[in-house]
Amino acid sequence: MPENRTFDNIPATRQQSAGGIAHETGELHRLLVDSIDDYAIFALDPDGYILSWNAGAQRLKGYTAREIIGQHFSIFYPPEKIAQSFPAFELREAARVGRFEDEGWRVRKDGSRFWANVVITALRDPSDRHLVGFAKVTRDLTDRRQAEETLRQSEERFRLLVQGVKDYAIFMLDPTGHITTWNAGAERIKGYTSDEIIGKHFSIFYTPEDLESGKPARELKVAGSTGVYEEEGWRVRKDGSRFWANVVITALRKPDGSLVGFAKVTRDLTDRRAAQQRAIEAAKKAAVSDESNRTKSEFLAAMSHELRTPLNAIGGYTDLLTMGVRGSVTQEQLDDLQRIKRSQQHLLGIINDILNYSRAEAGQTIYDYATVPLTGVIENVAHMIEPQAAAKNIFLTIQACPPNIVVWADKSKVEQILLNLLSNAVKFTNEGSVTLACDWHDEQRVGITVHDTGLGIPADQLERIFEPFVQVARSLTRAQEGTGLGLAISRDLARGMGGDIVATSEIGKGSQFRLTLPRDQNTRV
Ligand code: ADP
Repeated sequence: MPENRTFDNIPATRQQSAGGIAHETGELHRLLVDSIDDYAIFALDPDGYILSWNAGAQRLKGYTAREIIGQHFSIFYPPEKIAQSFPAFELREAARVGRFEDEGWRVRKDGSRFWANVVITALRDPSDRHLVGFAKVTRDLTDRRQAEETLRQSEERFRLLVQGVKDYAIFMLDPTGHITTWNAGAERIKGYTSDEIIGKHFSIFYTPEDLESGKPARELKVAGSTGVYEEEGWRVRKDGSRFWANVVITALRKPDGSLVGFAKVTRDLTDRRAAQQRAIEAAKKAAVSDESNRTKSEFLAAMSHELRTPLNAIGGYTDLLTMGVRGSVTQEQLDDLQRIKRSQQHLLGIINDILNYSRAEAGQTIYDYATVPLTGVIENVAHMIEPQAAAKNIFLTIQACPPNIVVWADKSKVEQILLNLLSNAVKFTNEGSVTLACDWHDEQRVGITVHDTGLGIPADQLERIFEPFVQVARSLTRAQEGTGLGLAISRDLARGMGGDIVATSEIGKGSQFRLTLPRDQNTRV
């Protein structure tokens, strides 16, 4: 910084003649005013004719000094203000009290309007106080007004939005908890109209128990100190009924931190709570029925053991008699013994089925999973069913699986299912054929179908046959009575291994049962 510009070195020029200073200051002011760009600053004579004009005035109003000086200042006013003689009023007031301030629309040279803040100051001669004219300072506040208007509109929109919300009660409290606003949701949920409730204390919504424990005040205290309070609890409607509410209270503070009040948002969760309650009850019941299923299957296991022992004894002694160990038997007696034996076998079958079914129902079936090539399984069951088919003169065809078809399953359970499907097919076919075909597979699954040309199943019974103890075709067949549990167990087992059984049938023509099982993903080639 050069030496001669330090403050110490400011030359003492202020000691020039007083007149010189005054002149210099006047000139400086003129320059200052002239160059100000943000304010229109100009002088009027006592009648309102324009005497001077600055850069800001030109920028704001669009006239050059040459155009405007000598014109009456009412040129800046919109017609409605002129009609009210407002310009003249302004000057009169400024002359009377020294100063007049106003905000309003003014007109630019091009006819456009701007929102102006106008201050008119009366200028008086210091010696005799007579009016020499007016100073007029105008600011363009259009932007500020627009911003205010935008804000007002957005606040209005927001107010309308809140007002219209029906699912939430949204309202405001003053710092002491008195209600200051109310919306449609609040009216819907709590039952009060805004006329009834505004001004009341918000503790009106609380149950007597909560009031006694001082809960409303506590909630405001927490919201005031932490900013927000949230809870779920019972609240009371105008008609005295209770509803389960989710409540959020938010403290509203000014930027300086002072508390303005609270915003309270309440939701009615009565229905949701009731649904939750129902779900809990259902889960409890399910748990109880799981428990009772377990007890049932334990009971059935014990019972079947108890039943099997004497049944086996009956079978054993029947065999002894049949073999003539106790002495010779007549043909008639032999026939009777065979009937006893068949019934004993049948009863054993029923006991086994019941036991299996109750285990499957209780989810207690244990699956011994392994990689199972279907070819071997199908050969086994075909051998087992051959004698039955041959006895009824039924033509049995087996269409084996390709060797690469391998499932991930419990081998003995797959055999049990296929044997059940095959023996049903044979049982419910009086003449014709039964076919087992490994006839379908995709990336994930394999399908094995058992076809027969037997009695068929009425369409409306097709799903029912999978229910336990349902026997549709009993009257149509001479087959030995079953238990009606075979298909129920088979489908449970198939589903338990990730597969399924689906039946189609045409009455008089035959039936198809397709078992699907998941392929073993690791050994697939
Ligand atoms: P069950 O064979 O012991 O009666 P299932 O559960 O195996 O019990 O079968 C239920 C019923 O479904 C049978 O009683 C029969 O009416 C019908 N059903 C099953 N398989 C066939 C079939 N292949 N053809 C006709 N009806 C069948």
